[in-house]
Amino acid sequence: MSASPPPQRQSPPRSTPPASTVSPEPTKQDQSPPSAPPKEEANALLRCQWEACTTECPDGDQLYLHLCNSHIGRKSTNNLCLTCRWNNCGTSCSKRDHITSHLRVHIPLKPHICEVCDKSFKRPQDLKKHEKIHTEEHHAQHKHSKAVTVVDPSFNARPQS
Ligand SMILES: [Zn+2]
Ligand SMILES: [Zn+2]
Ligand SMILES: [Zn+2]
Repeated sequence: MSASPPPQRQSPPRSTPPASTVSPEPTKQDQSPPSAPPKEEANALLRCQWEACTTECPDGDQLYLHLCNSHIGRKSTNNLCLTCRWNNCGTSCSKRDHITSHLRVHIPLKPHICEVCDKSFKRPQDLKKHEKIHTEEHHAQHKHSKAVTVVDPSFNARPQS
């Protein structure tokens, strides 16, 4: 018994924005939300994961030194340890050189270091990209001073690591 006719089709209330603020349809290219947390690795402390050690170091180089000094020790000080106790690693070596080079596998060392500001990078292309900012700074300075446009050979002759 559906005698009642369907309700009158009213056009829904249109909520068009005022003509003054005409905005094109939002075409979001990036799918990440605008307030995505930036990946800041710079301030993260590296935790030594050696057995029973709770030392934290600001970077891989210092952590490496800590491992060599505090955990590997030296023959001369009679505390040489040739077994890696990093996080149940258990690797044993017969020489101090071997264990110290092994330790690097546990440490995120960044071998590509900017000569200008000592920032370090894991990948060479990151360093290349970063070095450009110094190059541009350099050129900017030359624009400001009416410097002679002499090709500085030392600028391009930087050693390639
Ligand atoms: Zn430690
Ligand atoms: Zn190890
Ligand atoms: Zn730099």
